[in-house]
Amino acid sequence: MLNKVVIVGGGTAGWMTASYLKAAFGERINVTLVESGNIGAVGVGEATFSDIRHFFEFLGLKEKDWMPACNATYKLAVRFENWRERGHYFYHPFEQMRSVNGFPLTDWWLQQGPTDRFDKDCFVMASVIDAGLSPRRLDGALIDQPFDEGADEMHGLTMSEHQGKTQFPYAYQFEAALLAKYLTTYAVERGVRHIVDDVKQVNLDERGWISGVTTAEHGDLTGDLYIDCTGFRALLINKALNEPFISYQDTLPNDSAVALQVPMDMEKRGILPCTTATAQDAGWIWTIPLMGRVGTGYVYAKDYLSPEDAERTLREFVGPAAADVNANHIKMRIGRSRNSWVNNCVAVGLSSGFVEPLESTGIFFIHHAIEQIAKNFPNEDWNPNQRMLYNRSVSHVMDGIREFLVLHYVAAKRQDTQYWRDTKTRAIPDSLAERLEMWKTQVPDSESIFPYYHGLPAYSYMCVLLGMGGIELKPSPALALSDPSAAEREFEAIRDKTRRLTQTLPKAYEYFAQHR
Ligand code: FAD
Repeated sequence: MLNKVVIVGGGTAGWMTASYLKAAFGERINVTLVESGNIGAVGVGEATFSDIRHFFEFLGLKEKDWMPACNATYKLAVRFENWRERGHYFYHPFEQMRSVNGFPLTDWWLQQGPTDRFDKDCFVMASVIDAGLSPRRLDGALIDQPFDEGADEMHGLTMSEHQGKTQFPYAYQFEAALLAKYLTTYAVERGVRHIVDDVKQVNLDERGWISGVTTAEHGDLTGDLYIDCTGFRALLINKALNEPFISYQDTLPNDSAVALQVPMDMEKRGILPCTTATAQDAGWIWTIPLMGRVGTGYVYAKDYLSPEDAERTLREFVGPAAADVNANHIKMRIGRSRNSWVNNCVAVGLSSGFVEPLESTGIFFIHHAIEQIAKNFPNEDWNPNQRMLYNRSVSHVMDGIREFLVLHYVAAKRQDTQYWRDTKTRAIPDSLAERLEMWKTQVPDSESIFPYYHGLPAYSYMCVLLGMGGIELKPSPALALSDPSAAEREFEAIRDKTRRLTQTLPKAYEYFAQHR
């Protein structure tokens, strides 16, 4: 039986992997994690997808325990500002799309929407967020969504098995360093051996498989399976095993970021329960409200902007609160390893691949990877089909997300700087080009989006297309012949529910202040 795992790297990827493997296999697995005391973690990565709750559930962690320890808040959507034009915003919410007579409500909205705000007409969340509210009441009860939080048949499913069955109404935002610390305690308490040391060398046997890693002070560490969580360095997968890296840079040119962690009195500031992506002249700025501080950063392409100008713009954007805060400049490697599992080495996290953080997918990639590792954990046969299936699944997730992110830029109406003009002429993946042609006459549905699991349902594509405003969409012709009264009733029901919720839900800050 293979059961000895060596994880190199102790950022979010390393500790999520160590914790998950322990939760999955308990004492039957032997995990060592080595992390450098000299090389820090990337220090960003604080917003997530709603599926992340399955990770915490799998570990048996309760919101009331881990959230205050990580200064965490709820995220109900991504809010896009200035992507269509300056002053415009829209939400891509975590909310199940309603259907009327077999057509998604957004199709009916295109045919005859009550107002010009698809997000407020089709989803209740847009108004809940605008009002800065919590999706839970002060007694902890969840917003009344068409969602069964505790459905027994949902337990034990992986994220891909959940897709389409539920849309949980929120994701989390947290301090990455605090989460790594929390998971360190969780994993070490369950028997993970934790070593702080530098890996100086990766040793290969005559077949090219990893036989051990040599550390500066703890000698050689050996295992059956080696997990590369060394971040953009990709020390095992790319450097030692020479697995090629496939760049996405031709279609996603943002390759740099500058980040600030800005302490703030959140009671005074209030919490908008979402991650905001504000378009800038050469990229966009993220704003993530946490309890006690705001995480913010400018993601940009260095072909269009220097690091100094990016930092200056970010500081102007944040204002005086950032005056004494040090900036973290990050060079991003955009793309993925051709294969993330090679021989006895699996890369998880930034070493496996990364796309810019526009839809907060980095931690989702990690979560997906470790679910698949646990599912495909090898035995002495080292069945190559397991690796092949794993690699296929990981590649699909990243390639699918790449398409989705490229869509944001192609669909954005904004064309006021060279950076934004170039988004309309730059190469895009061939498969997306074909889909875009189709979507001009037939709006996206589950049959016409990227065909493999990548975490995003068709309604997400509709939100981006409707919100970005640069591509004209047409309603399904059948709707012109259909009786609209059921759709009108649904729009009215959303208005009613929005009114009810905005009058009764507590402020997001108030909710967290009470639960700390
Ligand atoms: P790192 O955090 O870089 O950790 C690498 C680890 O490897 C460290 O512990 C280091 O000590 C160790 N290490 C390296 N070399 C050695 C060695 N020789 N010996 C021993 N140890 C070594 N994701 C999201 O989901 N949401 C977001 O909002 C988001 N925003 C992001 C914004 C930016 C600008 C960037 C760049 C990424 C963002 N991500 C986001 C991605 C997210 O940050 C990462 O997926 C996540 O932090 C995992 O990083 P990691 O653990 O793979 O790498």
